[in-house]
Amino acid sequence: MMQAAVLNKFKEPLEIKQVEIPKPGPNDVLIKTIACGVCHTDLHFIRGDWEIFQQFLPRIPGHEGIGKVIEIGSNVDACIKKGDILGIPWIHETCLQCEYCLSNREEVCPKLIRSGVTVDGCFAEYVLMNANFAIKLPDGMDPYTSAPIYCAGVTMYKALKTSKVQPGQWISIVGIGGLGSIGIKYAIAMGMKVLAVVAPDDKVAVQLAKDMGAEEVYDGPAEKHGEWIQNKVGGVEASIVTVPLIIAFDQAFVSVKRCGRVIGVGIPKGNMSFPIARWVTSGIELIGSTLGSRQDLQESLDFAKLHGIECKIEKRKLKDINQIFEDMSNYKINGRIVIDFLEK
Ligand SMILES: [Zn+2]
Ligand SMILES: [Zn+2]
Repeated sequence: MMQAAVLNKFKEPLEIKQVEIPKPGPNDVLIKTIACGVCHTDLHFIRGDWEIFQQFLPRIPGHEGIGKVIEIGSNVDACIKKGDILGIPWIHETCLQCEYCLSNREEVCPKLIRSGVTVDGCFAEYVLMNANFAIKLPDGMDPYTSAPIYCAGVTMYKALKTSKVQPGQWISIVGIGGLGSIGIKYAIAMGMKVLAVVAPDDKVAVQLAKDMGAEEVYDGPAEKHGEWIQNKVGGVEASIVTVPLIIAFDQAFVSVKRCGRVIGVGIPKGNMSFPIARWVTSGIELIGSTLGSRQDLQESLDFAKLHGIECKIEKRKLKDINQIFEDMSNYKINGRIVIDFLEK
């Protein structure tokens, strides 16, 4: 048996209980969890923001895990061995055959199987992972500070690649939580100049943005950030919006230069409103960016190792999971919470 946090019903606390250790199918590896980041997407899921996932309950959430391989399915080839340290990302499996899978965009595969939603995730002492989608943690990287790279890190790395911002040019990152804070590190390592936008008067987030290396930080009224950026630096080449707030998207549109890019990563409910005339006549691009492919994940890990990029984390225990989600709902988390499965 193993300890796991189980979501029985949307909006209810997760139940910490003993459940059976899963058995690997032919393509799976069984992983003993070491670390698992707690992502805002987990909060969306447990709150029932996406009703379509109701059919998958009860479920063990968690999709930013790292652990050690302890058992291998019969079809898994020699690339993966017992003792390897692997990640458990959001993408558990895709169809490998659709036009998106065949063009390095498997993250939008219509048949995507999601860790912690469609199949059990890593808020548990053991978890199964499809070996074809398991990416090893590069040697020498810390599993705790690296766990969030398997979701937040690859998401920001991919969004930054999508932004096409060149070294020396300005980018804004709106929202400095788990995604935004590591995004600053990646952007700086790519040579970009970073302007961070945080919630009004959020002094903790201002400090975090500065600690991560942001050159400018805006913490004024949310409805003014676009205008402020235009006045301060003449607009940014691109803006990546990580927060689930519609106002942030609308203002990001105001903040970009002509031919700039607005890249949506956060997922609020509702619609953007923006002047179509400026969109068309200024050649602005609106781009949605979610996660990244296995190739993007491998690159984001290698890039992090090369540049010494680590998430700012705080370690907690699985038994604290409901308190962690409450803190997340109240915007009390600074950086990323990572559940530590080794320390008892
Ligand atoms: Zn995530
Ligand atoms: Zn596919």
